[in-house]
Amino acid sequence: MKKYDYLIVGSGLFGATFAHQATLKGKKCLVIDKRSHIGGNVYCDEELGIQIHTYGAHIFHTSNKEVWDYINQFAEFNNFILNLVANYKGTVYNLPFNMNTFSKIWPDVVYPKDAIRHIEEEKKEIIDEPKNLEEKAISLVGRSIYERLIKNYTEKQWNRSCKNLPEFIITRIPVRLTYNNNYYYDKYQGIPIGGYNQIIEKMLEGSNVELNVNYLENKDKYSNIANKIIYTGMIDEFYNYQFGELEYRSLEFEHITLPDIDNYQGTACMSFTDENTKYTRIIEHKHFEMLESKGTIITKEYPKDWKKGDEAYYPLNDDKNNNLYKKYKEISEKDTNIIFGGRLGHYKYYDMDKTIEAALKLSKEELN
Ligand code: FAD
Repeated sequence: MKKYDYLIVGSGLFGATFAHQATLKGKKCLVIDKRSHIGGNVYCDEELGIQIHTYGAHIFHTSNKEVWDYINQFAEFNNFILNLVANYKGTVYNLPFNMNTFSKIWPDVVYPKDAIRHIEEEKKEIIDEPKNLEEKAISLVGRSIYERLIKNYTEKQWNRSCKNLPEFIITRIPVRLTYNNNYYYDKYQGIPIGGYNQIIEKMLEGSNVELNVNYLENKDKYSNIANKIIYTGMIDEFYNYQFGELEYRSLEFEHITLPDIDNYQGTACMSFTDENTKYTRIIEHKHFEMLESKGTIITKEYPKDWKKGDEAYYPLNDDKNNNLYKKYKEISEKDTNIIFGGRLGHYKYYDMDKTIEAALKLSKEELN
């Protein structure tokens, strides 16, 4: 008899959702995390009474009613709607591209037909099959939008010229012919009032939790402690990179406290689409909660090349990496007492709702 039914490596949304479901079924779970806190990337710090999204802005949005009902049992959500603003050399534009954006770029635009006329005219610049991301973007939306709102942001994100990025990275660019600034089309969206930590804390009630424990450095102690392991860390690292390293993009966050400024930028998220500003976004956290309190906290987000040991934020799902991931997936399927999950275990970018959806699906298969 082992001490636990499940050892769950990683206390992020995937691990915590599985732990919650398993506990409801009377299973004994031990959750370990190498970080000093629970919650993975949804973890929030608190300062000046403001919830700080420590690992980048996290806006909950979904069209899946089951997931929305599930998450709402752990916290009350406010009605925050993401209205994203792009700052290009001091002029602001609404994102995603919509009638507000077009009428700012071309002042004679009032009706959808005016915007279509401009875009169609500019698209004509690309006659042959697009050979790189720049040509592809211009062929979809024209040069005015590309140069102000796509080019530099994309180059900062990838640290490469759009002329040297493959065209398949973008298949389509959503163009909205309405004056609707709501970034997400999802039916349900919001921010948990009081932050995300309470959600993870409630999900982990009934589980034992150990922090500051890296599974890979403590395999002897933990690999036999439970009947099964749910592993939400990097799959290539787990297998000691035997087929090679999967690639990611990373980020660096600069959190700045401004005790004497109550409202810094008037919005939660501002993107910077010029070439000289090194960060891609500034987050002003208090706007997620619609607070009108004293002082504010902002976070500048800098994209970064990833190297071993850095936080792996975005999997680089090109053909080369997807093929490599398949090799790891194949050997993992032969390990009957370990299940990989979450964004690092599946090597896939998941929004929070998709992470919960995947963990609920696994729980149904595994626990019923
Ligand atoms: P994680 O949250 O990464 O949790 C994995 C945990 O495993 C970590 O705590 C890690 O420390 C631990 N771990 C790893 N290896 C080991 C080991 N060897 N031993 C012990 N512990 C280990 N989604 C949205 O829906 N809306 C958003 O606005 C949004 N914004 C995002 C912004 C950024 C910058 C990023 C990176 C993601 C964003 N997401 C957003 C996605 C969201 O963060 C994920 O869906 C969610 O966090 C995934 O949960 P997870 O449990 O799979 O992974």
